[in-house]
Amino acid sequence: MRKKIVAGNWKMNKTLHEGIELAKTINRQVEENEVIVVLCPPFIHLSGVAGIITKDSLFAGGQNCASEASGAYTGEVSAEMIRSAGADYVIIGHSERRTYFNESDEIVNKKVKLALANELTPIFCCGEVLAERQAGKHIQIVKSQVEKGLFDLSPEDFGRIVIAYEPVWAIGTGVTATAEQAQEMHKMIRDHIAEKYGNTVASNTSILYGGSCKPSNARELFLNSDVDGGLIGGASLSASDFMGIVNAILDK
Ligand code: PEP
Repeated sequence: MRKKIVAGNWKMNKTLHEGIELAKTINRQVEENEVIVVLCPPFIHLSGVAGIITKDSLFAGGQNCASEASGAYTGEVSAEMIRSAGADYVIIGHSERRTYFNESDEIVNKKVKLALANELTPIFCCGEVLAERQAGKHIQIVKSQVEKGLFDLSPEDFGRIVIAYEPVWAIGTGVTATAEQAQEMHKMIRDHIAEKYGNTVASNTSILYGGSCKPSNARELFLNSDVDGGLIGGASLSASDFMGIVNAILDK
């Protein structure tokens, strides 16, 4: 059975004090059930957030990791450091990293491997921009991102991946993919994984939706058979909104 996961990507928001307070509130409210909840604060908050977690179903994650293992890369943070700060997850290939920091599929692939080598679960992001969807190329774009980012992994390593489908036109815009659009893409991703790694690996892979997910639309998105949870940006900055989304997946 694949895991239900709701991960919060705080992006570059919250002071250290605010972040710790938010994490404490969520830690108090998270119930011990089958839903995995992941908090991805800025790096500088990571060990503080990881340190206050007392619930078995709550985890900390990074928002990115370096594409090199260690060395003279001023300002970078390695997968090993993220792991040593108490994280279990790391977001890789978020569209903001791909767009603003020029992360290519090849760089994303290197990061995935470093994350796996350091016992972190990669939350691998993929998704098309609006022009690609309007041109009818969205399926082809996402397929290619998944292939180039992940398909040279062994079946065993692939089994440790979480995928987040995040249509770029829905991230931070208030425009959400419809339940049908999300389900169509998630099914395509799962079918593509099945072609490469077989049905068991595909059906065990958690595929999250991301893009303007809110308590008011989360349930409808999560009820789709191939949507296994969410990667949440803006709404993860409020404990009540985030917990509303976490609780929405319990109806699945
Ligand atoms: C994200 O950045 O991963 C995201 C889904 O953002 P938002 O929920 O704000 O659209």
